[in-house]
Amino acid sequence: MANTPYPQSYYAASANPVPPRPALQEEVQTDVCVIGAGYTGLSSALFLLEAGFSVTVLEAAKVGFGASGRNGGQIVNSYSRDIDVIERTVGPKQAQLLGQMAFEGGRIIRERVAKYNIQCDLKDGGVFAALTPKQMGHLESQKRLWERYGHTQLELMDQKRIREVVDCDQYLGGMLDMSGGHIHPLNLALGEAAAVESLGGKIYEQSPAVRIERGANPVVHTPQGKVRAKFIIVAGNAYLGNLVPELASKSMPCGTQVITTEPLGDDLARQLLPQDYCVEDCNYLLDYYRLTGDKRLIFGGGVVYGARDPANIEAIIRPKMLKAFPQLKDVKIDYAWTGNFLLTLSRLPQVGRLGDNIYYSQGCSGHGVTYTHLAGKVLAEALRGQAERFDAFAELPHYPFPGGQLLRVPFSALGAWYYSLRDRLGF
Ligand SMILES: Cc1cc2nc3c(=O)[nH]c(=O)nc-3n(C[C@H](O)[C@H](O)[C@H](O)COP(=O)(O)OP(=O)(O)OC[C@H]3O[C@@H](n4cnc5c(N)ncnc54)[C@H](O)[C@@H]3O)c2cc1C
Repeated sequence: MANTPYPQSYYAASANPVPPRPALQEEVQTDVCVIGAGYTGLSSALFLLEAGFSVTVLEAAKVGFGASGRNGGQIVNSYSRDIDVIERTVGPKQAQLLGQMAFEGGRIIRERVAKYNIQCDLKDGGVFAALTPKQMGHLESQKRLWERYGHTQLELMDQKRIREVVDCDQYLGGMLDMSGGHIHPLNLALGEAAAVESLGGKIYEQSPAVRIERGANPVVHTPQGKVRAKFIIVAGNAYLGNLVPELASKSMPCGTQVITTEPLGDDLARQLLPQDYCVEDCNYLLDYYRLTGDKRLIFGGGVVYGARDPANIEAIIRPKMLKAFPQLKDVKIDYAWTGNFLLTLSRLPQVGRLGDNIYYSQGCSGHGVTYTHLAGKVLAEALRGQAERFDAFAELPHYPFPGGQLLRVPFSALGAWYYSLRDRLGF
């Protein structure tokens, strides 16, 4: 049977030690079968176990193999679409619920880290950096908007203030969210998996779900075993393939790339990011970066529509890093990798139910570290019969991509080119 290892990332190289997990080779019975051991699956599993369900998690490769073990590690609150857009799309009650939940994922992460003593280099503080007056105006209105939903911990920064937190002369200003922050993402996933097991949950690795037998008593098949469950949660996101055709047709896997420098040493690290906040800029195709626990710079940016793996990641991302930090021109890149996130046309997550007993959440379109943790809670609430918050997400419209599966890649790339041109021209 295939044994899929982690990609060669800084995270895999610095992962906390974990015991080997078996592949499923028998038939098991469980209340809930979760497909995918990323944050969506693990968060769902943890909330369900805490509520008294029995849970079996099937992971095609290893815990955190997907985006959850490869991402920039930035705890960014809210969704990949602004709440005013959501307000225009849905009714006021639904918008109110979604707005109230926009900062809950970050709190869930911090509660998990504290409750289960997860060692993942958690740091507080995230900066949104504006490159143009238009972006600064957008941050000002964003702050007003979020405050309407009770999120009052945000600080606008002028040019002088942002230079105190990031040594980059491109920014006109920004916004600091102290409820944002950063983590070692793979160690967060591994810690959550250990928490799942500490509550009696079972995790099988190298155990892809290859077929779902739907119906009143659904069965999930793997190459060598099967899981009989009362409920199924589909949490495979951009790595799910065509297991559930309804989900594949309204979303698009996209690749994004990350590089990691050699350790910079305390002095240079403190010069770049004195308070150790993470930063993302406000461009449509945004750059994002932060320091690691051992004082490397992790820098990510760019999108490959359709998730093809670029041949030379360093050649794509290093110039972006040097544009922000020319002082790093002699610094070596130790790691470069790619990972897939799932884009939806609305850039809002797709949440729902297929039949009575198959639940799913996918497609947070870039910012997913916080949302996926919230999704786990909301899915668990729905399985317990409290579906108000689940329905607020489930009622968001799911649109197909223009051009269908064949033309969605060039159409989306064209759209992104247009928006990034607008960013470069400052309008
Ligand atoms: C390079 C990169 C950088 C990012 N940076 C950030 C960031 O800094 N901040 C932020 O908020 N968001 C970021 N994101 C997005 C964020 O990481 C994702 O939104 C989030 O991790 C998605 O979690 P998930 O559990 O839904 O999916 P994933 O983490 O992708 O997990 C899905 C899992 O399901 C498994 N699977 C798939 N199909 C099957 C099957 N048939 N059977 C069994 N298992 C299956 C996969 O192997 C995988 O482990 C980034 C994404 C990438 C790729």
